[in-house]
Amino acid sequence: MKIIFDRLTRTPVEEVFEAPESWWRERTALAQEFDYDFRAPLTFTLRSYKTAADVILEGSFASEIEVECGRCLTRYCHSLHDQFRLVAEEARGRVPADPEGVESLAREGLCLAEEIESAWYQGSVIKLDGVFGEVVAGAIPAHPLCDEDCKGLCPQCGVSKNESRCSCVPEVIEIEKKKSPFAVLAKLRDESAKGN
Ligand SMILES: [Zn+2]
Ligand SMILES: [Zn+2]
Repeated sequence: MKIIFDRLTRTPVEEVFEAPESWWRERTALAQEFDYDFRAPLTFTLRSYKTAADVILEGSFASEIEVECGRCLTRYCHSLHDQFRLVAEEARGRVPADPEGVESLAREGLCLAEEIESAWYQGSVIKLDGVFGEVVAGAIPAHPLCDEDCKGLCPQCGVSKNESRCSCVPEVIEIEKKKSPFAVLAKLRDESAKGN
């Protein structure tokens, strides 16, 4: 996935890039840590064009993952959508402050600033894998939920409260009350009152 700078003009050109799940798995350790599978190709729609001083790369990312809900532990399909916009300025011999940036500028022709919105480029071919990787990392939910209102599992019997009800008494709240510092204070007050 790359663009050739010499072909860019002031008129935005739209291209669609598709990457398989293996592209994402190979390029990041982050991908290994999570328990999810892509259910659709990773699709990037990119519009690129030149302005007087910069190159603009903007567009959107879409895909779908199957992932476990953090509350009810059901595996469900989660749509991924994200927009991105990157303003790249020619490096003109400037050297990025961090070694990672130096390496990325040499390898991909592009080095992202701390915020993904700006970058330096050098040379005539820009590899997009690094930018697209950042976009995907930002789009994957850190705490996936099958629904904002997912009721989760009953902590006592484990039944999914989205699907059925159980007759468990919510003991958890009682335990939390006992543990709270206010409850401890109240208890101390009670005891000292008895003592007097
Ligand atoms: Zn859920
Ligand atoms: Zn229950």
